[in-house]
Amino acid sequence: MQAFDYDIIVIGSGPAGYTAAIQACEMGARVAVLERQENLGGTTLLSGTIPSKTLREAIIYLRGVRQRPFYGAGFTGKKDIALSDIFVRVRKVVERRIAAMGDQLQVYHDRIDIFRGYRATLDSPNSVHAWVLRNPMESINMKAEKIIIAAGSRPRFTPDIPVDNEVIFDSDSVFTLELKRKSLPESIIVVGAGVIGAEYGSAFAVLGRKMSLIQRDQSFLTFAERPSSTCSSGAWRTTASSSSGATGTRGSSAWPDRRRGRGSRSPTVGCWRRTR
Ligand SMILES: Cc1cc2nc3c(=O)[nH]c(=O)nc-3n(C[C@H](O)[C@H](O)[C@H](O)COP(=O)(O)OP(=O)(O)OC[C@H]3O[C@@H](n4cnc5c(N)ncnc54)[C@H](O)[C@@H]3O)c2cc1C
Repeated sequence: MQAFDYDIIVIGSGPAGYTAAIQACEMGARVAVLERQENLGGTTLLSGTIPSKTLREAIIYLRGVRQRPFYGAGFTGKKDIALSDIFVRVRKVVERRIAAMGDQLQVYHDRIDIFRGYRATLDSPNSVHAWVLRNPMESINMKAEKIIIAAGSRPRFTPDIPVDNEVIFDSDSVFTLELKRKSLPESIIVVGAGVIGAEYGSAFAVLGRKMSLIQRDQSFLTFAERPSSTCSSGAWRTTASSSSGATGTRGSSAWPDRRRGRGSRSPTVGCWRRTR
């Protein structure tokens, strides 16, 4: 019979891996979690759900949006908002959540081993090889009866949009904006009118910057129910015409020719504008 180091190895510590690991501990299993980043929590905690909602809340707070029903639509909150004003809150909220996660895992310390900064690959159906990312000469091998792969996803790369993390950011690296720039950009283009694009687009638009949201076809929040997506895209165009006079242009063919027709249902792009 094969000797196993653990009952279960979990690769990835996002909401999927973290929950699976805790559930396995609850059921009495001996568990190892391998996470390539130094912090646990995955996209949700480090670059997705929590930071993006905190960023939005920080902007709404600093711009006094919730005070507008009382002080009037012209109320704009803090003058000269710096990137650090926004990101300090993001950092603090994320740090607290990381600490809370650590406390929760502490409950299972006798059943769970956590390997941070280890990039795992499968050697066989029961064995994992993992490199220490900060020192690739260092690695470990371990075996388990079951292996759960909860490695998540990452922003899609397309050569048409070369993310350089200086001018062009993806949804992960946008949180390094504060390190790369001294001040808020005067204009922002968000590519992709899905939930993430629409959310960041709306949040940055509240800062009063010129904001364009571009989508390769005319869909907006495609996987939302139709009334929600229609209502949301309508809000963008309505805001544009009422607050700045800028017109939402739709149906222009600005997307490079080679993108058109490749998996895209419509040959035109959608472009929505909004300033706050
Ligand atoms: C900007 C943004 C906003 C979002 N907002 C919401 C929201 O409001 N509500 C919502 O429900 N969802 C939201 N999401 C989606 C949500 O973050 C994901 O659905 C969720 O994180 C998926 O969880 P997961 O555990 O499957 O993967 P992830 O959270 O991606 O975790 C995977 C983990 O695996 C690790 N990993 C990958 N490969 C390896 C390897 N080889 N070895 C070791 N570790 C590895 C990664 O470092 C990562 O920590 C948002 C996402 C983004 C990007």
